[in-house]
Amino acid sequence: MSLAEIDNKIGAACTTAARPRASVALVAVSKVQPLDRVRTVLNGGQRLFGENRVQEAAERWLPLREEFPGVKLHLIGHLQTNKAKEAVKLFDAIETIDSLRLAEAVKSEMDKQGKNLDCFIQVNTGDEAQKNGVPLQDLEKLLRICREDLKLNICGLMCIPPQDEIPDLHFALLHKLSLEHKLPNLSMGMSADFEIAIRYGATHVRVGSALFGIRENR
Ligand SMILES: *Cc1c(COP(=O)(O)O)cnc(C)c1O
Repeated sequence: MSLAEIDNKIGAACTTAARPRASVALVAVSKVQPLDRVRTVLNGGQRLFGENRVQEAAERWLPLREEFPGVKLHLIGHLQTNKAKEAVKLFDAIETIDSLRLAEAVKSEMDKQGKNLDCFIQVNTGDEAQKNGVPLQDLEKLLRICREDLKLNICGLMCIPPQDEIPDLHFALLHKLSLEHKLPNLSMGMSADFEIAIRYGATHVRVGSALFGIRENR
């Protein structure tokens, strides 16, 4: 689908949900995509992109940023503490804070670099053993320490629902948690379900293959 088609779908989903179009941002997930596809979307005016690996993102975006001013990058993949430095240098927001150890590493790097990036806490709403994200029962504590002790700019929550389930319950749960904790942003919804996510209050939809085409294997 073209950028315009995705944009129309987001607009229609906003209308259905009685939400302003401006309340939902498209995070174009460019990981692994060929450069020509990314350029097409950049030329269409898109400036917000998501990547899930720090090194790969740096190689691609350091040159592209020179060429396309105003690009913003969200880290949407798991971050290892030893890559916190590079991540803080490159990204504008980190959507995948999911442990105290990582929060501390990111905080310490941001202090060194004089930055205070927007951060989302990734929640493991499906309680899946293999999945990243803070377990539900640990969210409140992590959030409290991030806000009160580390003074991180926690702006929202992020989730990736289990693949074999309909996403609705997960989106509804993340929405409820964001209200409880007074967090304005919700990063949820991917190619297959971003319109559903908008119904449940998503402010950031992360769309890859629907926009750029099927990804090659790495
Ligand atoms: C790859 C990825 C996406 C995009 O997935 P599509 O199904 O291609 O839209 C969204 N979020 C995360 C965290 C991802 O890793």
